[in-house]
Order: sequence, then structure tokens, then C-alpha cells
Amino acid sequence: MKALNKDTQAAITPSDSLQRLKEGNTRFTSTSPAQRDLLQQVSDTSGGQWPHAVVLSCIDSRVPVETIFDQGIGDVFSARVAGNVVSPDITASIEYGCKVAGSRTVVVLGHTGCGAVKTAIQDANSASPLQLGSIRSLLDGIKPSVHAVQTPDKISERTYENKEFFDAVVYKNVALTIENLRNDSPVLKEMEDNKEIKIVGAVYSVSDGKVTFMD
Ligand SMILES: [Zn+2]
Repeated sequence: MKALNKDTQAAITPSDSLQRLKEGNTRFTSTSPAQRDLLQQVSDTSGGQWPHAVVLSCIDSRVPVETIFDQGIGDVFSARVAGNVVSPDITASIEYGCKVAGSRTVVVLGHTGCGAVKTAIQDANSASPLQLGSIRSLLDGIKPSVHAVQTPDKISERTYENKEFFDAVVYKNVALTIENLRNDSPVLKEMEDNKEIKIVGAVYSVSDGKVTFMD
């Protein structure tokens, strides 16, 4: 498989880009990765890059983006931050990927068992804020998602030990991150409205390696 170039990137639509990621995850979970010579792709991309997608994901060591989507060198921009939340630098990086470098899809990728989400749930349930230094600003970005999940009815059951609740917060955090991205970036919002890009949410399962897309 050859690395993308200016022409092949230009021929990829937002739907194609999404399809490439879906098919890549299917290859990953069926242990049949595409045949690619990574060093050849290093050579192919030495003069420039034309990735088809930007993925915003968590720093979690179990979620290596290129591996789980079976992508090669120069295929995706990978922005990673604990809890996959937006910040000015993350938004700028995604804008660069789409507006300057021509990527067609933005995927906000959460994952099950996310430590950042788990800590945000613990913090929300704590009588006094946890003492966590710089991590505080990340938690403040995730906590609105904890509060937005209103089930189960019993507040005492809204804990990270309750897998259903934990998963619901993971999904809500992806949805709110996308909402924040659209609000914070008129550039991306306009590209999406013009159908130049797609912005989609997805969640990776650390149990079976599958990515569930939310669109
Ligand atoms: Zn995580």
C-alpha cells in the first residue's frame, strides 16, 4: 500500500475517509492488516504529507491510533490528550489538519475504561475537589459530561464501578467535545457546513479492539 500523495488525498471524500478508518479497524480486529512497507512510506512522504483524517484521542497507551485503524505513515494526524477534550492548541491542530493540510474527516475518539473520565467521575462524586495539580484543568473539561448523564435515577449509583454509567459518560464526553469543537472553531464549523469535512464521534473498546462510530 502506497502512502497518500496530493492527488490521492484530493480524490478522497469525507465519506471515503471515514470508510478507510472503518475498514482499517475491521482489518485490525480480524488480524489481517494491510500489506505496507513502512520504510517505503517514510520515503514516499519525505517531501510532504497528505493525511486523509485527523483523530483526536486520549493518551491512553492502549489506544494507539494508527494501529487500531490500521493506517500507515502519512495517513492520519493524531492529536492526543488525556480524556480527548478540546483546548485552544488542540483546536488549532485540528484546524491545521483540515484547513491547511487537506484532511477530510475529524474523528473524536473516546475509549472504554478511560482513566481521565474515571477520575472526573470520582472528582464529581467527591465532597471536596481531588488534589491533582495540573490535571485539574482536564477534569474540568470532562466534568460537564459526568453531570450531563442523568441515569440511573439514584445518584449514588452514578459511579465508575457502574459500567453502564461509566460508558455513558465516555460517550457523552465525545459528544460534548464535538460540540465544543464546533463552537470554538468557526473554521471547522464552516468546512463541515460546506460538506468539505465530516466531524464524527467514536468510541474504542479496550476489551475487544473494536471502534463504534456514533454517526
Ligand atoms: Zn483515556
